[in-house]
Amino acid sequence: MILLLGGCALRHHLHYEPVAFALAPYDPALVTGMSTQLDQMRGHAIGEIRTAGGAPVDDLGSLPPEVVWAAWSTALGWARGAELDLLVDGAPVTVWWSVDRDLTLAWSDATIWRAPTGVTSEWLVDTYGIGGVFDGDRTWGAAELATLDLSLSLLTDEELPAVSGVRFVREGVSPRGLRELAWYDPTDEPPEISIFDAAFDIESDGFVGPVDAPLPAGVGSILHEIGHALADLEARDAWLRCGVARAGSDREERRDACRAYAEVRRRGPRIDAWQRFRDGRPGPSSFGFRNPHESYAEAFALAHVDPDALERALPGATSWFERADTR
Ligand SMILES: [Zn+2]
Repeated sequence: MILLLGGCALRHHLHYEPVAFALAPYDPALVTGMSTQLDQMRGHAIGEIRTAGGAPVDDLGSLPPEVVWAAWSTALGWARGAELDLLVDGAPVTVWWSVDRDLTLAWSDATIWRAPTGVTSEWLVDTYGIGGVFDGDRTWGAAELATLDLSLSLLTDEELPAVSGVRFVREGVSPRGLRELAWYDPTDEPPEISIFDAAFDIESDGFVGPVDAPLPAGVGSILHEIGHALADLEARDAWLRCGVARAGSDREERRDACRAYAEVRRRGPRIDAWQRFRDGRPGPSSFGFRNPHESYAEAFALAHVDPDALERALPGATSWFERADTR
């Protein structure tokens, strides 16, 4: 599962924070006043302000107005420790606030990835081996299918078995609440991933990926659920073996196969390895940062869309995923 967050719970640690909410409507007339307020906050509520290249920003008026807007919108303390990818009037701006409230700003004039048209369910099944794309109480839109295609295209050959046979279902609102973006349901074979309206919300002022190659935030939500599916692969396999052994007559085989399933049912080897790597560190995002499954899923998504951001949030994680690929 992945939730839309109201605030950040990790302010004492550097972390990446997915943005699935709308900023105040952009109004360039307000930017000069924002610059003045940010200047007044320097030295107490805000420390150093610099660009991603390390250059100090002495004159906020020299920044593009969208960058000032992003800085001001996150300056009230809730974003402390967080790296956020914001779209301000369509312009991508990455802000990262250190735990000491220094501010680093990155921006580009790139436009967000535009979905190609013509992606069909059949093509996705043929190309990636998924179980199919199904309409729940919503119908998949053309841009949404293209976003799913983009997400699947980022998987390595070693990761593709995670989506083998998986059904992708488009639903409106999660039965578990409005704030949920997507959901991996392992209780059926093949498993199902539901994607809710909130994951594709065009009102969201967030993106994922590098600031000079921004991708729709929905890619992050879909990859997060695929991360759960990958972590669940061993359990899926063990469950099927247990089912086969149950149908057979060999008692010992049945006992061993179903015992093997019980061992990985709640937590497979990938999550164990992830926990050993994290070694008590929180992150990479505040969502479920105490929960190893959610931590892994968030990191999995970031490893695919923005490895540099993952590395800033959790040093060593990007190469951990590169190694995990070939394990
Ligand atoms: Zn999740």
